[in-house]
Amino acid sequence: MIKTGTDIALAAHYIRQGELVALPTETVYGLGANALDAIAVAKIFEAKQRPTFDPLIVHIADMEMLGKLFLSPIDPLVFTLAKAFWPGPLTIVFKKTDLVPDLVTSGLDTVGVRMPSHPMALELIRTSGCPIAAPSANLFSQLSPTRPEHVQKQLTNVAYLLDGGSTNVGIESTIVAVENGETEMLRPGIITPEEIALVTGKMPLAHGQSNKIVAPGLLKHHYSPRKPLYFTDSGIKDHKHKGLIKWTFNNAEIDWVRTIVLSEKMNLVEAAANLFGALHAMEEDERVEVIYADKLPLEGIGIAIMDRLTKAAYQYNV
Ligand code: AMP
Ligand code: MG
Repeated sequence: MIKTGTDIALAAHYIRQGELVALPTETVYGLGANALDAIAVAKIFEAKQRPTFDPLIVHIADMEMLGKLFLSPIDPLVFTLAKAFWPGPLTIVFKKTDLVPDLVTSGLDTVGVRMPSHPMALELIRTSGCPIAAPSANLFSQLSPTRPEHVQKQLTNVAYLLDGGSTNVGIESTIVAVENGETEMLRPGIITPEEIALVTGKMPLAHGQSNKIVAPGLLKHHYSPRKPLYFTDSGIKDHKHKGLIKWTFNNAEIDWVRTIVLSEKMNLVEAAANLFGALHAMEEDERVEVIYADKLPLEGIGIAIMDRLTKAAYQYNV
């Protein structure tokens, strides 16, 4: 069991010592280390069994820290986005300074940075006095954690787990790259391209449109439960013990052994917050052998939810 509690001073002590701390953010739980200490960062890859071609997001608590991570002159678009969405679930990718170890960025000359809005995350970064590199606190390719128990289930080599209860956004940050006065979407999240366009005055390019920005780590198979996962619209096969993750109201027709509704009110924000919790519950439920999930509407936040679900189901649907 990882030592768990709400002692931010102790957690900051571990960060300064170069140890790993699992921390709540508003998106999912992160596995954090001092972002400027390559040896501490190496422990993240080891604990998660994450391949080193997959760069980490660096978390900051104030704009002064940003100046140490992003290379000057910083594109004004970075400040426009930061002003509109920070603290919050938007990661901005921009050219990095030499202070950022290559291991953090997988050798890229850019770094992804975000200022989380979770008060415990912000206070931990401030008390530690350094930016914190933190991918989600799960084993590589498995389900992201939205509760401290989800972290306990997957990880062991962590000095301390800061308990902040359930995360409220529930899916990982939107990632946008800024280059040559343009923005490019790298990963969908709760902040949509339309919202970004409202503040920048221009729709971000779709990922791959500039043909220049690479986002390693965006694999087809990711976020997976340790049980087969299928979509209901491709037909219900004759598996014996089926669990169902429903988009909305439950009209329990088939003999599901477990049904979880993502949002009775058909609210996509609520569905996003419940997504990983539902997948974890199905993974843990010994009665469930196979998981089925409804597809959600591909609009707004539904795009980010379907991105995660499609990757979670990928290996069973090719
Ligand atoms: P996470 O696993 O939630 O920590 O998110 C990390 C993901 O952010 C990586 O898999 C990349 O796709 C993306 N990312 C992080 N840093 C960069 C970067 N410098 N350039 C492009 N993508 C990045
Ligand atoms: Mg992750």
